[in-house]
Amino acid sequence: MKRVLAVSTLIISMLMLSAFGPVNGAEGRKQFEPDVANTEVEQGTAPAAPAFNGHIVVIDPGHSAVMPRGTEPLGPGSVEQKAKDAVGTHGNASGLMEYQLTLIVSNKLREELLSRGYFVVMTREDSEHAISCKERADIANAVGAGAYIRIHANGAASAKANGAMTICITQNNPFTPATYPASSYLSAAVLDEYCKATGRRSEGIWYTDTMSGNNWSVVPTTLIEMGYMTNPAEDLWMASEEGQKLIVQGIANGIDRYFLGLGLQ
Ligand SMILES: [Zn+2]
Repeated sequence: MKRVLAVSTLIISMLMLSAFGPVNGAEGRKQFEPDVANTEVEQGTAPAAPAFNGHIVVIDPGHSAVMPRGTEPLGPGSVEQKAKDAVGTHGNASGLMEYQLTLIVSNKLREELLSRGYFVVMTREDSEHAISCKERADIANAVGAGAYIRIHANGAASAKANGAMTICITQNNPFTPATYPASSYLSAAVLDEYCKATGRRSEGIWYTDTMSGNNWSVVPTTLIEMGYMTNPAEDLWMASEEGQKLIVQGIANGIDRYFLGLGLQ
């Protein structure tokens, strides 16, 4: 885990230095020029990289194959401890683990956001390392993300449970209440555009202060539960190419809408 942290820190340092110079994100964003290497567009074979649109998005593919040990505070200054991460759910028809699905979708979402001009940072790019919810949020905080998007899928005892939700801190969050208006706006925009693009049933926004990954984020954040892996039809849909195409479009449209200020509030 220490190695991962060191690598993450190094990557962030390199990003900050290359993108902003040794200054903080807010000031540096104006100076930022898109990094061609980051767009993964081969010269001469693809359209030129789009101009940087001024927004940094951090994507967090939920869970991992390796679990961090122990607990961490529920939020900054909290005496309540919570497990650093959970195993997550799994597909009862696809056979996929949640950490596999979230990484597949996150990689596709990164490509889509890059094509729309965003600067994108991932909290993990493989499933071989443990990373806690706090450590994931630390990455979003370190790069000064305009939006921190946590990708998850749901599970339930009933195979009939279906639909999507986003999860947001409450207005009275004791840790990072200042992010509430923006996080609520982001949660609404992402959920609405997601359900519009995918046709999934909306389960609404779940407002809760029990998510340590949200509590540790000092930048606007939302967690999306894309659907239920315990529902065979929804599980197979999320595992399909066609489903993932719609999922990515929906989330990206929600992020666009958030930044354009056309949310529901
Ligand atoms: Zn999850």
